[in-house]
Amino acid sequence: MYDFVIIGSGTSGGVFSFYLTQSGFKCLLIEAGKSYETKDFPKNEMEYNAELFWNGGMDMSADARFAFLRGKCLGGGSVINQCLLDRFDEIALNDWKSISKVDFFTTENMEEHYREIEKRLPIVKVPEEQRNRNARIFIEGLKKQQLGWAPLSRGETDCGIEKGHDCIVCLGGCPRESKQSGLVTFIPWALKEGLEIKTDFSVDKIEHLSGSVNLFGTKNGEKEEIETKKCVLAAGALGTNHILLKSGFKETLPALGNNFFCHPQIMTFAVFDDLVDSHKGAFQSVKSEDTTMREKGYKLENVFAQPIGTALLYSGFGKKHQEWMKKYRNLACIEVAIRDDGKGKISLDKKNRLKISKKISKEDKKRGLEGVMIVRKIFESEGAKEIYTSPFWFGLHLMGGCAIGTNPETSVVNEKFTVHGHENIIIADSSIFPSAPGINPALSIMALSHRASRIAIEEMKKEDQ
Ligand SMILES: Cc1cc2nc3c(=O)[nH]c(=O)nc-3n(C[C@H](O)[C@H](O)[C@H](O)COP(=O)(O)OP(=O)(O)OC[C@H]3O[C@@H](n4cnc5c(N)ncnc54)[C@H](O)[C@@H]3O)c2cc1C
Repeated sequence: MYDFVIIGSGTSGGVFSFYLTQSGFKCLLIEAGKSYETKDFPKNEMEYNAELFWNGGMDMSADARFAFLRGKCLGGGSVINQCLLDRFDEIALNDWKSISKVDFFTTENMEEHYREIEKRLPIVKVPEEQRNRNARIFIEGLKKQQLGWAPLSRGETDCGIEKGHDCIVCLGGCPRESKQSGLVTFIPWALKEGLEIKTDFSVDKIEHLSGSVNLFGTKNGEKEEIETKKCVLAAGALGTNHILLKSGFKETLPALGNNFFCHPQIMTFAVFDDLVDSHKGAFQSVKSEDTTMREKGYKLENVFAQPIGTALLYSGFGKKHQEWMKKYRNLACIEVAIRDDGKGKISLDKKNRLKISKKISKEDKKRGLEGVMIVRKIFESEGAKEIYTSPFWFGLHLMGGCAIGTNPETSVVNEKFTVHGHENIIIADSSIFPSAPGINPALSIMALSHRASRIAIEEMKKEDQ
């Protein structure tokens, strides 16, 4: 029997795999997606959407107003994200502490876990020479409005921008092994320690027993059952909720699936007379740094999308749409990312498929509008000929549904990161977020997974004595 089976190989699962195997435990990492080596990532946007993401590129909310993106491959979200790594600030941690009643959430307590992850991953401020023209337009526009800005922090080694590499390619996996995804860090480190991996294996259900957990899954159409002493659920906010809901945990955990957040993003494009080439270099390199915006609950970043993404974000069709796409190289783009308080809900439809309900709250709408107004002023001040805000909101940071907290009526996971009343199931992935932090989540998911794995190791050692 395995000591630990980790379900989901993304940001959280990779970290658990490494620390648990390093402590000498027999561990299996299970992943629903396929395993890719950096040299054989899909070569274009259409293929990587289909192969590296769930549901051919995106999940939709029940009312089709929101799109949600999540990785499905060995390494999960860490392979297809931008690896922008930020610590949570006091605003985020105080909010978590107040909602969850978990006293641990302070800057001081998080310090050692952040430090542990940062020690292992090279994190750099995206340097000035890697900024493209889109970033420069953004910075100049912010300055004219007396708003602050700061370079983004990224986990990377050698992006090769000066050799002509463009980071936008890495949305389909970084071919240079520069982006510090789990695929080039925690997973290979764990393999060296003896980790076993099963890919193409989708876990359908889990069953909690006294002293063990049974997993029921499907690999290549064949049903398989696996027994483990403890199970780590690291399938991401949608995946972890889906497994627990299908396994019937809602009966004993009333909060399961509640309070889903996604940091909704709104993209505004501007057409310039001359080439902007927003897809070149580090396509995402600068953010707004402004206390008022932070307190209000939104931020701005320079960003861009590959052609299919850009086409989807522009509503309409036919000649007008074609004319728009011809301007691709003349487009600048800035996103507004919202720290959402509109609570979503994850549940099952009649066929046990995921149903994601996500409304835009009045406050979130206000945050979005205010952010977009600033973006439009930035573009106007920089001489844009045409400005277009996409009506299509989407979420890349999927969080919540299994909130951490001390009260089993309002939360799912306790301060030891085990599911209330089910001590053999451990969770520290993005599903445990009790609220939206308004900050890139990956570094904190890794830090919390480090803490949770340490607690699990101590508990297991006690049980084995
Ligand atoms: C395009 C994009 C860009 C992003 N950029 C950033 C960024 O720059 N910085 C940042 O902090 N965050 C970013 N994010 C968000 C970040 O990637 C996620 O918040 C993070 O990866 C979530 O970690 P996780 O461990 O909870 O889940 P994931 O990393 O999503 O991992 C979950 C894994 O579980 C697997 N799985 C799910 N269900 C099952 C099942 N039933 N059986 C087996 N396996 C299963 C999935 O296939 C997946 O591999 C981005 C996200 C996207 C989509």
